[in-house]
Amino acid sequence: MLVFVLNAGSSSLKYQLIDTKSKELKASGLVERIGIDGILKHEIGEDKKITFELPIPTHKEAIELVLRILTNDETKVINSIGEIKAIGHRVVHGGEYFKESVIVDEEVIKKIEELIPLAPLHNPANIMGVKICKELMPKVPNVVTFDTAFHQTMPMENFLYAVPYADYSEHHLRKYGFHGTSHYYVSNEAVNILKKKDSKIIVCHLGNGSSVCAVKDGKSISTSMGLTPLEGLVMGTRSGDIDAGVIPYLMKRKNLTPDQIVDYLNKKSGILGVSGVSSDLREVIKAANDGDKRSKIAITMLCERIKKYLCSYAGLMHGVDAICFTAGIGENSDLIREKVCEGLEFMGIEIDKEKNSKREKGNREISTKNSKTKIYIIPTNEELVIANDTYNLVKNI
Ligand code: ADP
Repeated sequence: MLVFVLNAGSSSLKYQLIDTKSKELKASGLVERIGIDGILKHEIGEDKKITFELPIPTHKEAIELVLRILTNDETKVINSIGEIKAIGHRVVHGGEYFKESVIVDEEVIKKIEELIPLAPLHNPANIMGVKICKELMPKVPNVVTFDTAFHQTMPMENFLYAVPYADYSEHHLRKYGFHGTSHYYVSNEAVNILKKKDSKIIVCHLGNGSSVCAVKDGKSISTSMGLTPLEGLVMGTRSGDIDAGVIPYLMKRKNLTPDQIVDYLNKKSGILGVSGVSSDLREVIKAANDGDKRSKIAITMLCERIKKYLCSYAGLMHGVDAICFTAGIGENSDLIREKVCEGLEFMGIEIDKEKNSKREKGNREISTKNSKTKIYIIPTNEELVIANDTYNLVKNI
């Protein structure tokens, strides 16, 4: 079945056209700067790349353009839009309503809109993508897959904050966790490699945004992101864990509004804030190699925070069968993987430096023969999960 996978952001839109039977990626792309000017980077299959620069004032025009490109003579991968049998959308926040992907109906849209206070930057754009698709392709079913859904299996003691309970029951204050689709995909791949159902797996999703997840017997039992994606690891521009006392302290000292402190912790902190160089780890590694002290400290802070979560989750699960690295940093940086695993031999975690430094595609093991815990690099594929969920939900309607 041909499934169109859409991830609509506030000024951008990512898409993939996937054949769920063959798992073939027919086309993919990214529309950026919607409403500003407009740029569309389109890929056919895995190698032919085309860039279009043209005014794209609205998301609706962006989706119309993508649909035209998919069927246009020179860039054609399908003969008509009618070949798209279902659309799968990534939605960031499903709150406690959604524990799995669902087919969109009016009730689903209402609930996603209700959750906007929990994800004010993401859910409105995600739901706009759904509404536009319903308008442009009224006969095609839409499915929504949530970043939070996989973590809905966390036990209460792991998702509550130690604050008055009424704020959970009345204001939905709790840890939700994000990157759930990626944590599910990667941990499931690891379960298949290990051939062990009752497994203890830790997934390190390390990208611009990063999170760690403890997956026991296929279920998320704890994750580092919280009510919002700000909690946990040191990220590109996010501080991750911080003493809550920092917030009123800084607000008073620097006369900041709530929005300004949120911006400070989400966009000016993390690797960028500490290094002063960039949020892009490649540039920070380069600066560190050239002797920049703050870049070196930023890299060490990033690795130590991951290590802290690894050890904590290994303790929580009474052991760990496999550690998986994924996303931009996890898949590409041998330096970070090595520094994270360094010194953990006492826990049976031994990385093979030679295997770790090889650049290869696909799933691979990078632990030594004697390592009690397997260490894997598993490239994530959230879009394939969304496409498969979409197929499974719509195949019988
Ligand atoms: P996003 O969270 O936006 O999807 P990605 O998963 O693409 O981000 O990860 C982006 C991060 O991956 C950037 O910080 C980038 O510097 C980093 N990255 C990509 N390749 C490498 C590499 N070879 N070495 C170190 N970092 C890398």
